Amino acid sequence: MSQDFDTSYDVIVIGSGASGLSCAVRAAKNGLSCALLEKEAQTGGSSNFAEGHAAFESDEQAKRGIVVTKGQAFDTYLDYSHWRANPSLVTRFVDNAATTVKIMRDEIGAVYEDVTVTALDQPGELVTWHLVEGEIAKLIELLEADARRRGVDIFLGTTATEILKDGAGKVVGLVARDSDGQTVRLGAKAVVVASGGYANNPEMIDRYTRFDQVGAKLINVGGPGNTGDGIKMVLAAGGSEHPSIGTLLLFPLMRDKTITSHTNATGMQPYFWLDANGKRFINEAVGLNFGNAGDVVAGLPGSFYWLVMDSATIRHLVEDGNEVGLGIYVRNHEKMVRLPDEIAADAVDPDRPNVQSADTVEELAAKIGLDPAVVRAEVDTYNRYCADGQDPKFHKPAKFLLAVAEPPFYAIKMETGIMVSMGALLVDERWRCLTKQGQPIPGLYSVGCDAGGLFGESYSLPIPGSANGFALTSGWLTADDIAERIAAGEL
Ligand SMILES: Cc1cc2nc3c(=O)[nH]c(=O)nc-3n(C[C@H](O)[C@H](O)[C@H](O)COP(=O)(O)OP(=O)(O)OC[C@H]3O[C@@H](n4cnc5c(N)ncnc54)[C@H](O)[C@@H]3O)c2cc1C
Repeated sequence: MSQDFDTSYDVIVIGSGASGLSCAVRAAKNGLSCALLEKEAQTGGSSNFAEGHAAFESDEQAKRGIVVTKGQAFDTYLDYSHWRANPSLVTRFVDNAATTVKIMRDEIGAVYEDVTVTALDQPGELVTWHLVEGEIAKLIELLEADARRRGVDIFLGTTATEILKDGAGKVVGLVARDSDGQTVRLGAKAVVVASGGYANNPEMIDRYTRFDQVGAKLINVGGPGNTGDGIKMVLAAGGSEHPSIGTLLLFPLMRDKTITSHTNATGMQPYFWLDANGKRFINEAVGLNFGNAGDVVAGLPGSFYWLVMDSATIRHLVEDGNEVGLGIYVRNHEKMVRLPDEIAADAVDPDRPNVQSADTVEELAAKIGLDPAVVRAEVDTYNRYCADGQDPKFHKPAKFLLAVAEPPFYAIKMETGIMVSMGALLVDERWRCLTKQGQPIPGLYSVGCDAGGLFGESYSLPIPGSANGFALTSGWLTADDIAERIAAGEL
């Protein structure tokens, strides 16, 4: 290896989320020397916000009597992606995800408190969401401790900037900016790009996604460091884009509200939604799959909608509970007891124009900038559907048809939140980065949200925990591949 390097390792991992830490821990366990670079001051990235991860035929499912076969998972991924997913990659993930559960529990110390779904009423959702005590943030803590114990060098505040190759096209290391702002050159037999996608890069969002100029409008709730660095570095090193590079995990979200807010969760309920023209535009039951709902809202004029409801609906939410929750942050069928106080305070807060109330529908419409006559007509039509128990326009189930009749009336503005981007780089089923011609670049890997091949053009919420499950599983499998190739003298 070149003398130009400040120091050298067998493996260098870029990014310390679920995928990067899983890879680093396993690399060290496999006897490889390993450095983990993280540009933020702490580990975890977007993984710190996740709640659970997907697995199939795991012992945690078995002991709870839950049956989700690998075949079911495979079929769902392929079908949901319209067969754009990479079948071999899907198989490798699906086959190994249950082992991830074992590793995280038996070797790392995770405790699984439940295996469940995200939305009880979502048709066809598989019971794959393995919830970890303390959520994935706790698992990150455990993984980091294990990595340090095994001798992984973790460099925080250190940003990888360039991947280096030799004359034969093999990866030999990388350049990074360390926590003192100094440029360092690190040698490596393999580099694993685990930088978590580009959810916090509006310019890349506009370049890659099918939505028109939404980058600046999206509200990022994930890690600040997810700016697509790894994707750019791999492309510069000869890698290529996966056709589904534009896939995002979006969801309806209030600006300036946390995802635990009851007003925010109310805005996602499948009741009565109006677009920027004051028109009802969809079967609001799309909200049972927040990923699909996010895709819908991103594509609307202005990338927002208004949920309009009456006081009887608020009573229903408080007394009977919501129709759909938001992850573990607001539970399914939770009684929305904080809603009346929260929404009353928001509605009179001049700093919160995204919540309004009024005694008449027309007055409410005027307050939110919609044509009162248009909104009145939409409400009248919708109330007729509610009385009939049938929605001939969008065929929403009758149980979600709640009239907008009892004053005062409320409106909540829902914009578009982004959790992560997914599926950027072309990789094979060993997570090796491929050139446009489909050739692996020796020593270059991409895992987690930087790697394409699991999704089509939207996130597969019917298999909850896919992103994190894929991140954790791709990490350790990649470390195994690297160890095998180093042992074989290939790297
Ligand atoms: C609110 C929320 C809830 C979620 N809930 C779930 C869930 O329950 N289940 C699920 O499956 N998924 C969930 N997700 C998605 C999930 O968290 C991620 O998809 C997954 O964990 C990503 O892991 P990763 O390792 O690819 O990326 P990350 O965890 O984002 O890690 C990438 C890391 O790379 C670092 N980095 C970037 N560039 C560089 C660079 N140049 N040099 C060094 N470091 C760099 C970043 O700072 C970051 O720390 C959720 C996401 C959010 C935001």
